[in-house]
Amino acid sequence: MNFHPLFVELDICMEEKFEQIGEIYDAFETDAADYKTDAACRKGCAYCCTDAGSIDITTLEGLAIRSEILRLARPLQLKVKKALNQDIKKRENGRPNPCPFLMKNRACLVYAYRPFTCRRIYSLHTCSAERPPMLHRAVMKTAAESIRRLQHLDDTGYTGHLSFILFLLDNPKFLETYLAGDHRPAEIMHFGKSHRIIINRTVRQDSSAGSCS
Ligand code: SF4
Repeated sequence: MNFHPLFVELDICMEEKFEQIGEIYDAFETDAADYKTDAACRKGCAYCCTDAGSIDITTLEGLAIRSEILRLARPLQLKVKKALNQDIKKRENGRPNPCPFLMKNRACLVYAYRPFTCRRIYSLHTCSAERPPMLHRAVMKTAAESIRRLQHLDDTGYTGHLSFILFLLDNPKFLETYLAGDHRPAEIMHFGKSHRIIINRTVRQDSSAGSCS
């Protein structure tokens, strides 16, 4: 992964879509606020970033994170690149790995742009291997609806693990196709199948979704 700087300027349509992502995040926060008052989450815990499963994102969310990475100082960009590549390798070998954006001080490097998967999680108890995060059922339902809205917004895009989506966006050919608003799943068929990438266009209101498999 090289963070090919094919784009720095995003077109108006993408900027508008970024705003809509923010609206979806905000609407969820408003709906979940009352439930989260009893959350046991505290600064520095980061259990969700190390042990709570796959951090899945849409391509559009990946594009927002990518544009933040491209603004980082070069040495930090290289560090992130290394962490993402290591994460890909480990995951391809079926080994769990902490999120590549989790820093040594247990803070998130892209906190302001963290994806919805990170925003939806909280827990009513302190988490451990024996006690994974516990959320209210109503919040899980609202979160599922927010994910569908994010996938519909990203109609020509995909959903998958954060490192895999950023890997796709780092491919100049994929990025060009995606930014042009074209939809060519055949171009990523092999990678999509082996990395459990979902085609957003196949996500339906009944929540069934087609993947590249
Ligand atoms: S993106 Fe940030 S908040 Fe989300 S899992 Fe990674 S380090 Fe944690």
